Amino acid sequence: MLAATPIRLRLTLWYVLLLALILGVFSVGVYLALRHSLYTNLNNSLEARANDLAGLVRFVGDRPTLAGQISTTSQDSGEQFIRLYDISGIAIFDTSADGGGARTDARALSTALSGRAVFDRVSIGGETFQTRLVPLSDGASIKGALEVGRAPNEATDTLRALILILALGFPIALALAMLGGVFLASRALSPIDKITRLAQRISGDDLSQRLNLKLPEDEVGRLARTFDDMIGRLDAAFRRQQQFTADASHELRTPLTTIKGQIEVALTRPRGSDAYRDVLRDVNEEVDRLIRLVVSLLTLARADARQIPIVREAVELSELVAASVEQVRDTARESGVDVSLEGSGRLMLQADQDLLLQLLLNLLDNAIKYTPAGGKVIASWSRRNGSALLSVRDSGIGISPEHLPHLFDRFYKIDTARSRQRGGVGLGLSICRWIAEAHGGSISVESAPDQGSTFSVSLPFDYLAATV
Ligand code: ADP
Repeated sequence: MLAATPIRLRLTLWYVLLLALILGVFSVGVYLALRHSLYTNLNNSLEARANDLAGLVRFVGDRPTLAGQISTTSQDSGEQFIRLYDISGIAIFDTSADGGGARTDARALSTALSGRAVFDRVSIGGETFQTRLVPLSDGASIKGALEVGRAPNEATDTLRALILILALGFPIALALAMLGGVFLASRALSPIDKITRLAQRISGDDLSQRLNLKLPEDEVGRLARTFDDMIGRLDAAFRRQQQFTADASHELRTPLTTIKGQIEVALTRPRGSDAYRDVLRDVNEEVDRLIRLVVSLLTLARADARQIPIVREAVELSELVAASVEQVRDTARESGVDVSLEGSGRLMLQADQDLLLQLLLNLLDNAIKYTPAGGKVIASWSRRNGSALLSVRDSGIGISPEHLPHLFDRFYKIDTARSRQRGGVGLGLSICRWIAEAHGGSISVESAPDQGSTFSVSLPFDYLAATV
């Protein structure tokens, strides 16, 4: 039930509960300390009075007597009774007789008669008295005992007043604490209410809104800023998603439109088998492009959904680079581009061999595509600062600086017509980046127009993750 209660109420309740506990302990402490002090005072004055009186006692034979020594008026105001006992414990003088007589405590009396002064408590007519019993000695032996009793009126009155003050003060203090607690909790939580109201206004369709609250750099301020940052990231992710869908649809539509156009033209009139073969060859090319595009889209979609397992195995980089170069050699020869290897020694890496091969093939494929006949492409491997470095360098057309930051973005193509003409869909480098990052590494490019390009992939040696 408490879980559904607003925080401000819960905070206040906890606060009040804690305060009640502290006040309770404090009150009991004050009460006990005061009680102790009052009773100590009472006992001290009783003791002094008993000693004074004991000094006044005279002995008539073995009988102690105070005859003529005190009168009722000489009793101090808080004093209720004085009693004298002879050695056999019989009260021979008793001023408490007026009040009905007090029951003698046999044990306290016998202690006093055995020579040891004691404090005791007796009740007369339902009222409790604090008493002091002292032995009476004539110098040679104990002849009796003297008892002085006093009602602890002053102490009980003071303690009663204290209880009253505490009983009245306790609920008042709690009520004030409750009000204060509600006020403080409301003050502390009001920015959260504001955040909630504003957050409710931010809908899934419009993630451009932000809280933009001017709050200090405290817990709530950080919450608001974190919330804004999160909306910002969601916004960017949504935009990327929308852009991706739009780009993918566009990329799919282009070859389909081309295919449809070619088929329609072919169907306008009867043609010879050679003409149909030409159309089918063109259609086949477009279908190849569609397949490449769909395969790339599928790879990225599965990578996003973390559905592509990274199968770790020992990969020898010189062999991997050699294998990739071997696979593109025919294409390179057809394009008149010379492909060679560079690197020495063996370099072992725990990585997904198929994915690394795909990465290298993508880079080599691009390098050959964007290098005019007579140019050179060099694939190399090396070790640098605890990382393995794979790179593909070409002497091709190069890339202008303004394109470099976007090169690894999905569907980013510098020259759409040229890229398309070369069979590109703008997804190759984003797949390369995903493969590098999935291995805990990174990919970068250095290039300038007409100066060729170098794509470098840095992979850590200690990569151990099994899946991404
Ligand atoms: P595509 O499938 O179009 O090649 P990529 O993602 O592989 O897509 O490459 C994105 C763009 O980067 C290409 O359109 C191309 O313009 C440019 N590019 C990639 N590699 C090279 C290179 N080696 N030399 C020059 N430009 C390149």
